[in-house]
Amino acid sequence: MPEGHSVRLAADQLREVLAGRTIIHFQSSFKKAIAEEWVSQIQGYTVNTVRSHGKNLFIDFSSGWTMYTHFLMWGSWHVYSVGAPWLKEERKARVILHTATHVAVLFSAPVCELIHRDALATHKTAETGPDLLADNFDATEAWRRFSAPAHAEREIGALIMDQTVLAGIGNVLKSEILFGAYLHPQRLPATIRPDEWARFVDTACRLIRASYEHGSFNGALLPADAVVEPSKYGYVYRRRGYPCLRCATPIKMVRQGERQRMTFYCPHCQPYIGDHNPDLALPAPRKRRTPSKSQAVPTDQPMGK
Ligand SMILES: [Zn+2]
Repeated sequence: MPEGHSVRLAADQLREVLAGRTIIHFQSSFKKAIAEEWVSQIQGYTVNTVRSHGKNLFIDFSSGWTMYTHFLMWGSWHVYSVGAPWLKEERKARVILHTATHVAVLFSAPVCELIHRDALATHKTAETGPDLLADNFDATEAWRRFSAPAHAEREIGALIMDQTVLAGIGNVLKSEILFGAYLHPQRLPATIRPDEWARFVDTACRLIRASYEHGSFNGALLPADAVVEPSKYGYVYRRRGYPCLRCATPIKMVRQGERQRMTFYCPHCQPYIGDHNPDLALPAPRKRRTPSKSQAVPTDQPMGK
């Protein structure tokens, strides 16, 4: 799943071939692109720039219109030289932007809108929180959003994935950042001390920046001499049951948030602070299967086989 660094990398790649160039041909399979005649706002116009904010990607055209795309779980932008073969099937192309030298293709992304610049300030993307990859990341504003009363009952492992609080964290970075900052994912925001928040911000900015500079999570999350199982690339992500690389305690997993996303953590390095430590809770007793009245089998008859 694309996280903030991979959207930033896609924006860099698009900017390199599109910025300052004229779109000589525009195609889209989105019904609304045809109904709203996007071609008249894109074709023949120049791309001013391409930018990202968290997981949102924007292409600004000289017509005053901006194309907003979000990959969700499966979308991607590809860039090809004119005439070069594509790496994905043409039927999956949702938007195609042609310049004299390159073709930019949006594959499979479900979210794509054309927004006039006058409407950007009131668009839903304007609610996105501070971008961890921004040079001027605003940690004070991020804290204001993180500690808002409306979020008081949300576990931080779910809260830091909320893009209106902080922009850029996806499921892999969530687990790795909380581990790096020694924070238990099920703590509530009110239990986070100022020094813990500062450590969280430092870790989050460092890990997302490293992922961006490496071009992926590989080599970005662990020191070069770390020894992990094949196909693993972080301290905790997808390492449930394996020993913690710091303390050898088995890594645990908990599902969090509305979408029940997996969070991996070390219960020793990331101690719970707050009431009702979930790591000390006994496993839920197995439900005894007592037949309901309607299903009850009369005791004077032999039970089935
Ligand atoms: Zn540990």
